[in-house]
Amino acid sequence: MLEPPRFCESCGRRMAVTVSPTSWSARCQEHGIVTAISAEGPIAGT
Ligand SMILES: [Zn+2]
Repeated sequence: MLEPPRFCESCGRRMAVTVSPTSWSARCQEHGIVTAISAEGPIAGT
């Protein structure tokens, strides 16, 4: 299981990390959601 990043890779700000049983996401105030689970991620466009 991957560890969610605590800081934005782009700006280094601390991100709000949300962890769910199967995945996680990290949101930067500046860049929005910059990182999300890559495998089996629920976040997908239409
Ligand atoms: Zn950022």
